[in-house]
Amino acid sequence: MQKTYKIASIPGDGIGKEVVPHGQIIADVAARQHGFAIEWTVFDWSCETYLETGQMMPDDGIEQLKKFDAIYLGAVGWPTVPDHVSLWGLLLPIRREMNQYANIRHIRLLDGVQSPLAGRSPEDIDFIVVRENVEGEYSELGGRMNRGTPDELAIQEAVFTRKGTDRIMKYAFELAQKRARKQVTSATKSNGIKHSMPFWDERFAAMSAQYPDISTNQFHIDILTAHFVRNPDWFDVIVASNLFGDILSDLGPAIAGSIGIAPSANINPEREFPSMFEPVHGSAPDIAGKGIANPIGAIWTIAELLEHLGENAAAAQIEAAMQQSLMHDETKTADLGGSATTQGCVDTILNAM
Ligand code: ATP
Ligand code: MG
Repeated sequence: MQKTYKIASIPGDGIGKEVVPHGQIIADVAARQHGFAIEWTVFDWSCETYLETGQMMPDDGIEQLKKFDAIYLGAVGWPTVPDHVSLWGLLLPIRREMNQYANIRHIRLLDGVQSPLAGRSPEDIDFIVVRENVEGEYSELGGRMNRGTPDELAIQEAVFTRKGTDRIMKYAFELAQKRARKQVTSATKSNGIKHSMPFWDERFAAMSAQYPDISTNQFHIDILTAHFVRNPDWFDVIVASNLFGDILSDLGPAIAGSIGIAPSANINPEREFPSMFEPVHGSAPDIAGKGIANPIGAIWTIAELLEHLGENAAAAQIEAAMQQSLMHDETKTADLGGSATTQGCVDTILNAM
């Protein structure tokens, strides 16, 4: 019998609504050609819904999502709704309650895309940032004292558990095993952060001992950001804490061209719950409704989602077709210096498939 995947689609706001339907169509075309099917359920959860109902998603939203094989998200956020509402009303609860502790950003310079780094070609920029997504520096521990006085003080605690640290490192090493270079780089700052980062380094050393086939190195986060710019060809898989990973996973897509291209994934490696796949870009209110958003981010994202489900051939087909649309100015969008509309770019991809 033909395999059918259940996928929850949350287009969200702004250009999310414009690009996600194209991603669904492209996934369906690939599915038909590779002998599987997708049953989509589309949820209108968004800032628009929030303005009407006071909620980004219903109370049982997480429960509803749990029965799917994966979640495909466009972008949530809108200027008339505070960021913390869209973040805490939808994105963070999904990440946390689905235990999506690995945030993955594939940084690859595609053929036909200009890196802002002079003289760089696709061979030089092809690496993955693995960010710890649920603990670390973004904790609620800490507090404020003596408010409004000269002795005012704010304390922010970072929490690194052995379980949380080991599992993200294990994920990074296993990912590296599937790649040609087989290298893991650790982002640290043990020369300045006294407790958590030496612990992070110890766990990294312990994990690397279990993977003798993987070469390792580590850099302090400050110099690491410089190397992203000066020597992006040094990297394969980079494992980082929540804060450092947050920084690296914006810097990475920036060196690989436009924010409109980059995919990201929030993974629950144990597969107890669905993982969530979303383009790196936001709702882009400045271009929303104009039909000019770059659909590649959402399309690369759906390819990564299908790969996660084990449909590697379908994912490869989508990536190859996507690559073709980037080869000519007439078939790429304005953010990449081209003249195509969203639909024009999508049509090229569909034809190539
Ligand atoms: P968020 O707050 O959700 O992180 P943001 O406001 O930081 O998002 P975006 O909404 O991604 O950022 O927009 C940043 C800039 O990039 C905007 O000028 C936007 O038009 C542009 N941009 C983002 N995505 C795309 C896309 N898919 N195609 C073309 N331009 C894009
Ligand atoms: Mg924004």
